[in-house]
Amino acid sequence: MKKVKCLLCPRGCELKEGERGNCRSRMNMGGKLQTLVHGKPCAVHADPIEKKPFYHFLPGSLSYSLATAGCNLHCLYCQNWEISQSNPEDTVNMDMSPEQVVQGAIENNCRSIACTYSEPIIFFEYAADIAKEARKNNILNVWVTAGYINQKPLEEACGFLDAIKVDFKGITEDFYQNVTRGSIGPVMNAIKLIKEKGIWLEI
Ligand code: SF4
Repeated sequence: MKKVKCLLCPRGCELKEGERGNCRSRMNMGGKLQTLVHGKPCAVHADPIEKKPFYHFLPGSLSYSLATAGCNLHCLYCQNWEISQSNPEDTVNMDMSPEQVVQGAIENNCRSIACTYSEPIIFFEYAADIAKEARKNNILNVWVTAGYINQKPLEEACGFLDAIKVDFKGITEDFYQNVTRGSIGPVMNAIKLIKEKGIWLEI
């Protein structure tokens, strides 16, 4: 059976049939790379945007916040480890289409939708579909991300996002390798690219 390579993040997982990526949420199914979490959030809340934390973007507003299971980093101190380090089949998930997410945001008087709690990169397709639907309804889109992403998908994300908070984990490569199981270079590149694209950036 055909091997597939995921180009979403620097891990570049090469997956045989039935294998899933390091983030647990993407799998080679029948020779195609499939997301396992589209429409399956495991956490949904209307939060103050300051809790994301954004301090200077739509201050005083609510942000409709959601996550799916999985993450492409494995920080030893992760406070949301129960969802970020779980397979999607092991979390309690809702069925929520992008349209239903946007409806939830409207009903809860939220001015933005935040992909947060775990890592939006690993539910990229779902986040993108939500953002497109949100734009039709004048709701802004924000991500809270570790920024461990490849350039091309980040450029695509900048096309549908209004603000990005990068959780910059530490200042050395040693810290990234030992504590997050990632690497600092791609995160620095992501921060530079977001700034160049003119997206609202908080770190
Ligand atoms: S997003 Fe997931 S499957 Fe894709 S390269 Fe990164 S860890 Fe691997």
